[in-house]
Amino acid sequence: MRALILSDIHSNIDALEAVLEAAPKFDVVWNLGDIVGYGGTPNEVVERVRELGEIFVRGNHDRACAGLIHAQEFNPVALYAVHWTQQELTRDNMDWMRTVPRGPILPADSQVTCVHGAPRDEDQYLLSMGDAWQQKEHLSNPLTLFGHTHVQGGFSLSTEGGGGYHTPIYSSHDKVDFYELNLRREGTKYLINPGSVGQPRDRDWRAAFALYDDEAHRITFGRVPYPVHVAQIRIQRAGLPESLATRLRRGR
Ligand code: ZN
Repeated sequence: MRALILSDIHSNIDALEAVLEAAPKFDVVWNLGDIVGYGGTPNEVVERVRELGEIFVRGNHDRACAGLIHAQEFNPVALYAVHWTQQELTRDNMDWMRTVPRGPILPADSQVTCVHGAPRDEDQYLLSMGDAWQQKEHLSNPLTLFGHTHVQGGFSLSTEGGGGYHTPIYSSHDKVDFYELNLRREGTKYLINPGSVGQPRDRDWRAAFALYDDEAHRITFGRVPYPVHVAQIRIQRAGLPESLATRLRRGR
């Protein structure tokens, strides 16, 4: 079984379509949340991910845009995008957004846990090795997939006490690129982030994703260029804050 792992698409249909075109063959899609927020094409993205189906976990922006939390703790730019998205979403897409479940979600017949932030707190950012160690007692499966930080890579924690930080290394900055991480079959737990499809923050502007192959026991990280200028024009035409457009090119 090969699962395409998507996270933090953030209403960027141009990035999502580029990922779907470049991704190696997959059987299912597991979506780690923040489907909407920030970008200019919420309905297009919601409709596309609904078609792709399978596993969904809600993100903090999904919750806010669906009106399930007060978004007052969001910064002013994010909050503006939440209100714009609420007005923009069709009734049907809004109704669907309200049904996206809270993590952790455990896909059937897998030894995988899917979360948005962290296993016990959907809003927690896992950024450092220390953050990863704190999760150790809460990792029921050998592999936990998370998003939220918009940084591609992850952590391994061995039962003997060692740990590692995994950052994909790519040969280019502007082409389709892949990086393979072979997972140990025993004695190690992994926390893996596919990166953000629609608003990367790891200084690489290309759309990020990952593929999990349970037979090969391998994660393949991927980056794909997409027409950023088109996504930027959509943000500008929507009247969303300019910073949401400019940051896409910087990748942070
Ligand atoms: Zn996000």
